[in-house]
Amino acid sequence: MLNKKSVDDINVKGKKVLVRCDFNVPLKDGKITDENRLVAALPTIKKLIADGGRVILCSHLGKPKGEPKPELSLAPVAARLSELLGQEVKFAADNEVVGANAKAAVEAMKDGEVILLQNTRYRVEETKNGEAFSKELASLCEVFVNDAFGTAHRAHCSNVGVTAFVDTCAVGYLMQKEIDFLGNAVNNPVRPFVAILGGAKVADKLNVISNLLEKCDTLIIGGGMAYTFLKAKGLEVGTSLVDDTKIDYCKEMMEKAEKLGKKLLLPVDTTIAPAFPSPIDAEIEVSVVKADAIPADQMGLDIGTETAELYAEAVKSAKTVVWNGPMGVFENPILAKGTIAVAKSLADTDATTIIGGGDSAAAVNQLGFGDKMSHISTGGGASLEFLEGKDLPGVVAADDK
Ligand code: ATP
Repeated sequence: MLNKKSVDDINVKGKKVLVRCDFNVPLKDGKITDENRLVAALPTIKKLIADGGRVILCSHLGKPKGEPKPELSLAPVAARLSELLGQEVKFAADNEVVGANAKAAVEAMKDGEVILLQNTRYRVEETKNGEAFSKELASLCEVFVNDAFGTAHRAHCSNVGVTAFVDTCAVGYLMQKEIDFLGNAVNNPVRPFVAILGGAKVADKLNVISNLLEKCDTLIIGGGMAYTFLKAKGLEVGTSLVDDTKIDYCKEMMEKAEKLGKKLLLPVDTTIAPAFPSPIDAEIEVSVVKADAIPADQMGLDIGTETAELYAEAVKSAKTVVWNGPMGVFENPILAKGTIAVAKSLADTDATTIIGGGDSAAAVNQLGFGDKMSHISTGGGASLEFLEGKDLPGVVAADDK
């Protein structure tokens, strides 16, 4: 799955290249409020321009649910991309995506020129991976490049369906980087390999826990999900977030760790408060207690100081670290200490450090540790499925080397 043809392995001179990007950027009043995803897409686009390709970009934006929604038009993206690239990105404004404008624009293209198609989710077939729309997209090009990792766990027309009708299908630099880091970390890690999981619920990460337990040397659990594990150990967890239907599962995982000889680290102390903060960033009184001394009327909202040190210590001896999910209610500064401590331990190590998207990526960036990490995944859902050991349809669909 991981040895895919990349933009460095193909010849695009004079060819029409359809590139699936992730231009799903936040918009406010028609203005892009965070252009990270556009900037991240530039290396692949520039490479294809430099190689003399005729670059046809496509992406989804938001959830128009198969209907043209003017507020989800990609027009602002074309305008901003033109500025970032320093050359015109012509916008093909067809509500049917592959319409008269797109076809005419593609027909008139010269080598090194760039156009952008309308939001692929204007078409209802897109998320159903329908054949007709896949063929329409394929009819525009001779080569297909997928650089949208964020949607790689979904089989849609613009990342999977289209590949059945195009001879050459490669991945872009962004996809390649995700495959290299996440794939290598999980399947071929430099050891010791420490995986850190947090976030709200055990149920959201059942397969991630199980798969990482098999692959890593040490699995660290924090965040809301830790309390179901503590309860499974027979401890009182007060009013902490607990999923009673997953107690047996947690027991199974603890047994599995033991059988495999893996370390499974759980909080030894925890930061508690009488209730969940409301609003979430409200100033609250907290205290830290041992994990086996949580009062019945208190709620665990972050790992404790001793746990933070224990986790940091485990990170110190690692050569590969993968982290997904915050250690506590990090949206509240008083309850962000555990998450900050873990982020800092990752920032301080020479190990390969990989952040698996979503909240942990946001937390690391917010705390200013972004540039200290080896890799921050651009896809929350996609990176989780990677960590579950699943084949991602968008990756599988690209040609092998
Ligand atoms: P993504 O899947 O997008 O990567 P994530 O895995 O980083 O997300 P989630 O599972 O969505 O994270 O959980 C993050 C949420 O969990 C945060 O909003 C945080 O406030 C909450 N959380 C963390 N610890 C606790 C806790 N002890 N009690 C309740 N909620 C918690």
